[in-house]
Amino acid sequence: MVRSGATTIRRTYSSNSMRVQKISVGPKSFTKIKMLGKGDVGKVYLVRHKETGKLYAMKVLAKAEMIKRNKIKRVLAEQEILATANFPFIVTLYHTFQSDERLYFCMDYCIGGEFFRVLQSRPGKCLPEEDAKFYAAEVTCALEYLHLSGFIYRDLKPENILLHETGHIMLTDFDLSKQSDPPGSPTVMKNSTFFYSLPSVDTRSCTAGLRTNSFVGTEEYIAPEVIKGVGHSSAVDWWTLGILIFEMLYGSTPFKGSNRNATFRNILKSDIVFLGPPTHQVISASCRALVRRLLAKSDKKRLGSRAGAADVKQNPWFKNITWALLRNRTPPILPLADPQKQQLLQFALTYEPDSTSLDIERENLWTTDPNRKGVDPFEKFESMTILHDCDEDFGVYVQKENSSDSRWTEGDSTAVEHD
Ligand code: ADP
Repeated sequence: MVRSGATTIRRTYSSNSMRVQKISVGPKSFTKIKMLGKGDVGKVYLVRHKETGKLYAMKVLAKAEMIKRNKIKRVLAEQEILATANFPFIVTLYHTFQSDERLYFCMDYCIGGEFFRVLQSRPGKCLPEEDAKFYAAEVTCALEYLHLSGFIYRDLKPENILLHETGHIMLTDFDLSKQSDPPGSPTVMKNSTFFYSLPSVDTRSCTAGLRTNSFVGTEEYIAPEVIKGVGHSSAVDWWTLGILIFEMLYGSTPFKGSNRNATFRNILKSDIVFLGPPTHQVISASCRALVRRLLAKSDKKRLGSRAGAADVKQNPWFKNITWALLRNRTPPILPLADPQKQQLLQFALTYEPDSTSLDIERENLWTTDPNRKGVDPFEKFESMTILHDCDEDFGVYVQKENSSDSRWTEGDSTAVEHD
């Protein structure tokens, strides 16, 4: 049933739309299995939906802590991106809701965990070139999708890439992302003088109006223009892709210094050094050339600055990648081949908490400030349920409630249905 006054949008891979109905989920609908990770304003838990037995990752954020750390805008931006994104390499959001003290994001559970840990566990903390290319290609597709949607990701690093049980990547953590308002449309580029006869779609124009001066990102991944504070565009994401490819191949980032200032000096001034045997693997000339072009100090000269992702995808290093079939490829690392992950999955599917176990609602996050009064800063946080019609046509249906009724209480929740 569609609630009166609800915003109804339909979205699929080919169109952008959603359809709505009523269901009921809230903190009590889930069994907490274990904590997966901790951020500065909340925690992420592995949970099981009591009714369906499905596993999810539930991000629980403490409102008081967000207010204290001035993170309200960021969390609203994250919700906006996750709720509108519908892409295989971006973590899927199923529900968001809130109680007086917390915000909840119910997302895909990625059993492979952080790509960072996967890298750390490999010999030399690196991957063979062809494997690195596979992950770089999936990240390129995810960045392309975000840029097309009018977002700059701004925080690419192995900690924010999760491995789904299929072994494919999923980007997460969008609280540093930035949205252009409204996003532009991609333009088909004429006179493309590239290596293949593919049409070049200029995704750069989607974020063209979006330049920002905020200083964001992770030290070793920060682009020169961000350090200089001269304003940055979607080209920052292509810089971070260059750092990521380098780290996957060499086990460390190219500009790491002994402290933050030294790292920044290297980012601004130093050339990239590609080490070789005996300490490092041999890397192809085409790969080195791509990394050099992604790590151009000037964002105007950087690969991706002409036509966005199309520039990157058409680079010779990627010539054996069939982009449209990437999702159908068997990834180099399959999380469930690890007996420990299999055990965890078995445990998660069968675990029954005893009566003393706390549920996610009662889990101690941070205490609320009892003196907090006045305007509700989370007024714009929308409670919603999103159904992803993955098995059929990827239809996704969302109802955005009127924010003033959207606080979760027993018996008052939102829902969605399939076509
Ligand atoms: P924050 O934005 O507060 O830093 P993150 O979204 O980065 O929180 O999540 C913190 C950690 O929780 C991640 O680094 C990861 O280890 C784990 N995590 C987050 N989302 C998932 C998920 N969907 N599946 C599995 N683990 C996750």
